[in-house]
Amino acid sequence: MSIGNSTAEHDLNALRAGIAGQVSVPGQTGYDQARQAWNLAVDQRPDVVVVAESASDVVTAIRYARAHGMRIAPQGTGHGAAPLDALDGAMLLRTTPMRKVDIDPASRIARAEAGALWQDVMVPAAEHGLAGLAGSSPNVGVTGDTLGGGLGWLARRYGLAANSVTAAELVTPDGDLVRADAGHEPDLLWAVRGGGGIGVVTALEMQLYAVRELYAGDLFFPIERIAEVLHSWRDWTARVPDDVTSVCHILRLPPLPELPEPLRGRAFAIIEAAYLGDEGSGAELIEPLRRPGPALDTFAMIRPPALGQLNLDPNQPMSAEGDGAFLVDFPPAAIDCLVAVAGPDAETPPTSIEVRHLGGALGRPAPGGGAQSSIDASYLLNAVGATPTLDLAGPVRASVQAVKDALAPWHASYDYYDFEEKPVTAAAVLPAASFRRLQEIKAAHDPDRVIMSAHPVWPIRP
Ligand SMILES: Cc1cc2nc3c(=O)[nH]c(=O)nc-3n(C[C@H](O)[C@H](O)[C@H](O)COP(=O)(O)OP(=O)(O)OC[C@H]3O[C@@H](n4cnc5c(N)ncnc54)[C@H](O)[C@@H]3O)c2cc1C
Repeated sequence: MSIGNSTAEHDLNALRAGIAGQVSVPGQTGYDQARQAWNLAVDQRPDVVVVAESASDVVTAIRYARAHGMRIAPQGTGHGAAPLDALDGAMLLRTTPMRKVDIDPASRIARAEAGALWQDVMVPAAEHGLAGLAGSSPNVGVTGDTLGGGLGWLARRYGLAANSVTAAELVTPDGDLVRADAGHEPDLLWAVRGGGGIGVVTALEMQLYAVRELYAGDLFFPIERIAEVLHSWRDWTARVPDDVTSVCHILRLPPLPELPEPLRGRAFAIIEAAYLGDEGSGAELIEPLRRPGPALDTFAMIRPPALGQLNLDPNQPMSAEGDGAFLVDFPPAAIDCLVAVAGPDAETPPTSIEVRHLGGALGRPAPGGGAQSSIDASYLLNAVGATPTLDLAGPVRASVQAVKDALAPWHASYDYYDFEEKPVTAAAVLPAASFRRLQEIKAAHDPDRVIMSAHPVWPIRP
């Protein structure tokens, strides 16, 4: 839209006057900052950016977009911006300032506005001895993470974050603010629970769990011991209880001065785990992993917000390329393939490669669960490479793909929604039956595909 056009300018000014948040268009001050995603590699160029401060701002923005024939891309942090379609002709609707969180300790329910980060939930919940199902990074958005599943440190005991959502407040493509819960709009609630959602979420309500402390930490081994570490972790995962969720993480740390000296500029095979239990039984549980003698051992009793440090995720926006895959199994032959592409002799491996242990509650259909009610895979691969300069994007993308391809014989029939950073449709990241139901819900609520999502759905009538 050209802001030289006087009608367009009049309408934009009316939008500005009608909301508490900010509105910017190309060429105007604030546009570049407002369109910037957390992943700095993503260059989003929408026709207009609205930074909403309330549900009422979201309603007004959606009505404006509809009146001007624009599609709408809701976004919180932009951690998941990579797979989005180009935003030309679209409104980027950011909920970044909407971070209010209310905790009801009696019902153990948290209500988080759409822009809340996981740390905004975990810190106040811990004051009541409660925890939400946060992912590994404290600064990932609750809404985007949960809409795509939400796999965290309590996953094998309590499942995906999506299946703990009890209600969603959202604005439909027609601009109506509705509440979806057990008694209202069951299809919209189902779609929010792991299907990427329909509409623009303004707040989520979710179940919290009684967790005052847990035994968690990392065991760092030099990268040269990667094969031994992967084999022993894999054997161990075959016999652990649901109370432990763990990851084997191959991490090449940059030589940054802010990193502690033993980690700076080095590469490690790290076993990370969180156990819902006390120190004595936790130490007994991880003893087989400790036996080979890690270079660094950080296991201790911690409060739930400290889980956000376990995976050593970046805490500042960065440029990166990533991809992932559900694995039906991770047998010795798969370990050998991974060591070949990611071990000490690999030429240009991605910065971070994780294999996460699934199963437990994740493998059982969640009561009243949504689009990802259960996961029919035993492990999850995630590979991410930093791309500090533009020329690295191609080679890093190729190295991420090489890791994914190396484990192709063990890929499940679809990938994990939240770790799929390529612009694929929801059919590639959901069970086939869920995708079909989502198409029908899309046809009923958003037949013109006004709301854009990380992994699109084409509406189809039943
Ligand atoms: C460092 C890092 C660590 C991660 N760790 C984990 C992890 O441990 N477990 C895990 O499962 N995933 C993890 N992820 C993946 C993460 O869950 C996805 O990238 C997720 O999409 C991020 O959500 P967001 O709200 O922060 O991002 P955004 O980019 O803001 O949102 C992503 C998508 O969610 C949808 N969305 C966001 N807000 C709204 C809204 N208000 N209404 C409707 N739709 C909306 C849109 O489709 C949007 O494109 C990680 C990602 C990174 C970068």
